[in-house]
Amino acid sequence: MNSAKPDNLDRKIQLEEIRLLHSALPFSFTASVSIALIIYYVMHDHVASATAFNAWLACVLSMVSLRSLDSYLFHRAPESEQIKRHWRIRFLLGALLGGLCWGLLPWLGFSPERQYFDFSVICLVGIMAGSLSSLAYRREAIVLFLLPASLLLVGRILYNNHPLSGQTAFVLVFFLVFSISAGKRIFNTTQQNIRLRLQADMREQAMKLMHQKQSLHQQQTPLAIIEFDTGFRINLWNPAAEHIFGYPEKDAIGKNIMDLIVPEDGSEQAEQIWQRLQQLEKIDGEVIENKTRDNKRIYCEWFITPLTRSENEVVGIAAMALDISDKIENERALISSRDEAEKANHAKSDFLSSMSHELRTPLNAILGFTQLLKYEKDMSDKQQSHVDEINKAGNLLLELVNQILDLASIEKGHMQLSMEEVTIHQIFCDCLSMMTPLAKQHRISLIMDTNVNGYVIADYTRFKQVMLNLLNNAIKYNKTGGSVTVQVEAEDNEQVCIRIIDTGKGIEADRLDEIFQPFNRLQASPDIEGTGIGLSISKQLIEMMNGRISVRSTPGEGSEFSISLSGRLIDKPAPRPLPEKNTIDPQTSDQGNIRILVAEDNITNRTLIMHQLKSLGYQADLAHNGEEALQKLAENDYHMLLTDCNMPVIDGYQLTMTIREQGNHNLPIIALTADAFPERRHAAIEAGMNDHMVKPVTLETLQQTIEKNLP
Ligand code: ADP
Repeated sequence: MNSAKPDNLDRKIQLEEIRLLHSALPFSFTASVSIALIIYYVMHDHVASATAFNAWLACVLSMVSLRSLDSYLFHRAPESEQIKRHWRIRFLLGALLGGLCWGLLPWLGFSPERQYFDFSVICLVGIMAGSLSSLAYRREAIVLFLLPASLLLVGRILYNNHPLSGQTAFVLVFFLVFSISAGKRIFNTTQQNIRLRLQADMREQAMKLMHQKQSLHQQQTPLAIIEFDTGFRINLWNPAAEHIFGYPEKDAIGKNIMDLIVPEDGSEQAEQIWQRLQQLEKIDGEVIENKTRDNKRIYCEWFITPLTRSENEVVGIAAMALDISDKIENERALISSRDEAEKANHAKSDFLSSMSHELRTPLNAILGFTQLLKYEKDMSDKQQSHVDEINKAGNLLLELVNQILDLASIEKGHMQLSMEEVTIHQIFCDCLSMMTPLAKQHRISLIMDTNVNGYVIADYTRFKQVMLNLLNNAIKYNKTGGSVTVQVEAEDNEQVCIRIIDTGKGIEADRLDEIFQPFNRLQASPDIEGTGIGLSISKQLIEMMNGRISVRSTPGEGSEFSISLSGRLIDKPAPRPLPEKNTIDPQTSDQGNIRILVAEDNITNRTLIMHQLKSLGYQADLAHNGEEALQKLAENDYHMLLTDCNMPVIDGYQLTMTIREQGNHNLPIIALTADAFPERRHAAIEAGMNDHMVKPVTLETLQQTIEKNLP
């Protein structure tokens, strides 16, 4: 704002000086020529040498002409030129020349007649005194003019050696000193005046500019600029304020701002803001609800500053406001559509999980009874084959239910992983033993080096699920006699890549992305069983384990799926895999001494579990609900309680808590539930149960879980 920088100001002062010096020249030259001509006219018959006197006049006239020409050139030069140093030097040389010319008057125009000589002295002193006013803008100019003029005059007076010559010379020297010091004072004052005037000019210009800018901003900004006094009377109201609040300036000025733009229910908030402003607090970007002239509600972002006089006395308020109603509307719409979308997604996940729960109960019966049927000896081959078909279809349905549940779990954010160092060798052994029968069935050679030594950071169960899914696909979508090769390689010191390479029909390049979309089976043959969800779940699981899953494929040649996870490979080979444990032989199990109480309300499930327990050789007793179970427990001794979780009267959790509260902590209690969410397992353990089985329960799982939990 303040453009009067020192160097800039000094430049301006210098320019002003030289201009003032030149501007005084026409008057001083006119005076010089006139006086010179008068002197010439008066004295030319009385001088000692007419030639010398003519020469003097010629000198004076030439000097004046030369300096006039110089001055003319100076005035014509542009400002950038005028400031240059050579103009000042030229002027000073001119002053020196002038001083010399006039100083020569008593010498070249010497008159032996005393009164003419004195006349010339008086004229010269007059010229010297007059020069003070025109040369005072530059101290050096005074000195350069006065010194030669007065010294030559003094020299001549002393040289004449008239009576009173010494005294006259002394007075003249005194006059010289006095004139120079007076010239210095005039110079200083002039300088000061120039400086002050220039500073004032510059300030005025800066103010003008600032004013222009301010009014331009005020007129053109989209911000409403409003000022009001402590009585809330508006004294500034710019066009944006007119536009935002709808009042023209003439209707707003002098009105109470509270009446104009604060809605009735906003007076409390306005009062609070006023209190804060009085504490000299600034309001910086606060959103306030306002009203317009036609009573429309709008939202404005306010920046308000108290205007203070001395002693922090608030004398007014300067405020700026931006109408952000559209922004707020958009944000609200965005939040509400996000909430809607979240709600819809939750509703979908809830639907999927409850559906999977509902499907699990009948599936339990289908799979359980078919498994029991498989152990029946007096069935024909045809009947056995029908049972196998039911079993196969049931298992496929179970896989679908499980995968839907996983998908819903992941989408709801309920899937919890327990990350650990998973030994690759162990995962490979498990996968090899589980996939070998399928590979044999499809006549595919499964090449997998179980001696790989190393680990990946993953959730054991979920990583195995992904590996099985990829191997299953690699076998399913392969050609008879093809192969599936699993390769492991360290990507760097901290990353391990596992590749599953098949020799199947491959996938078209432009459809590679689609295979990770849920329920998208591309154009898989309907003869190949599948749900279309496996890869979508696998991708999400691997990403939750901070890994990556990718695919490359050449149609007609095969596909390569790669999983990249944090981990390390170790050079030493891993220990040999352990032989697989044979899990069950129901015919030879002898558990006759074990008495198990079953609490189950569903009639089909009840029948199934009783058959399953009996076929495993256990003694089983039945309670239809929690209350009956408590009675039976009070009357008999049992080695274990298997309880459904959702039952009428007293549910499984309540039943367990009551048993534990009664002091029975030794009875193993195992939950049997159709709810496969991990949090259900947690709830069962919290209630005091020992273990948790998810329906449908196979004979193997049933036996293993019972054995594990018996004291
Ligand atoms: P699905 O239960 O159908 O196998 P996935 O999600 O596991 O579901 O796979 C999605 C689709 O990707 C499959 O239906 C199949 O068309 C294709 N696909 C998956 N793996 C392979 C593979 N190794 N070779 C060829 N196509 C594959």
